[in-house]
Amino acid sequence: MYNSILVPIDISEDDLTHMVIPYVQAHAALNTSKVHFLTVIPSLPYYSALGLAYAAEMTKLEEFQRTALSKLDEIVKQFHIPAEKIHTYAVPGSPKDQILKLAEMINADLIIIASHKPHISTYLLGSNAGAVVRHAKCPVLVIR
Ligand code: ADP
Repeated sequence: MYNSILVPIDISEDDLTHMVIPYVQAHAALNTSKVHFLTVIPSLPYYSALGLAYAAEMTKLEEFQRTALSKLDEIVKQFHIPAEKIHTYAVPGSPKDQILKLAEMINADLIIIASHKPHISTYLLGSNAGAVVRHAKCPVLVIR
């Protein structure tokens, strides 16, 4: 039923990942050809712009990407989806922008995203989930 499902994963938020597992499994079981898992690494210029002391140490973006990707691969095992259906990606940038960009690239027909409970500062949704819901060109399933 789905050609392409996109599941953005914040590798530092195990609770959010656990929330989406049963929903991803249920949708992936519906003749889905591919499930794309994406983790986004906040970009280095962001840290440099803030002048953070450790910015100089954060030069090895490729190494970060490799580490993030292997962590994502570990996380994805918990979903128990056949390996041939899975694609994983680790890219630098802003989570919401990269989620929307990959959704277009893979022609996603569903995005499954977890959201924190509403924060008073952002009202209905967190900033990433909110932006994805507002701007995605395909259905978005928000788990909370
Ligand atoms: P927040 O309240 O922290 O802004 P949201 O509730 O808007 O978070 O969205 C959380 C969801 O956004 C996560 O479950 C995940 O799907 C996605 N997300 C957040 N950060 C990243 C990231 N670095 N890489 C991939 N996905 C992310």
